[in-house]
Amino acid sequence: MDDQKIIEERVRSQTRLVSQAYAGQLDSLECPDCRHPAVSVWFAHPAANTYRTWFICADCDFHTRVQELTKPPFFSADRVSTDLQERDLLTLKGARFKRPSQELM
Ligand SMILES: [Zn+2]
Repeated sequence: MDDQKIIEERVRSQTRLVSQAYAGQLDSLECPDCRHPAVSVWFAHPAANTYRTWFICADCDFHTRVQELTKPPFFSADRVSTDLQERDLLTLKGARFKRPSQELM
């Protein structure tokens, strides 16, 4: 598989995970890497108007993050991960450090 194919496959599997989440399935999604039905959906809400959706596999290292422009319809406060929020906050701070002219919160 060349790089382009790998990227296409990754985008396709990410799109599939997102569409399953939109359909209301937040657990036992098929992992694109290990193929186990072990991916769960988590959320991070590090700042107003900043929502992120994480897909994390319990059986391997697979994880991917999708940035949402609005609150996802399948957003659940029960699934907000503090760890992920802290990591996201660091990312936001890093972004602010690199781009001082842009106001983030
Ligand atoms: Zn996996």
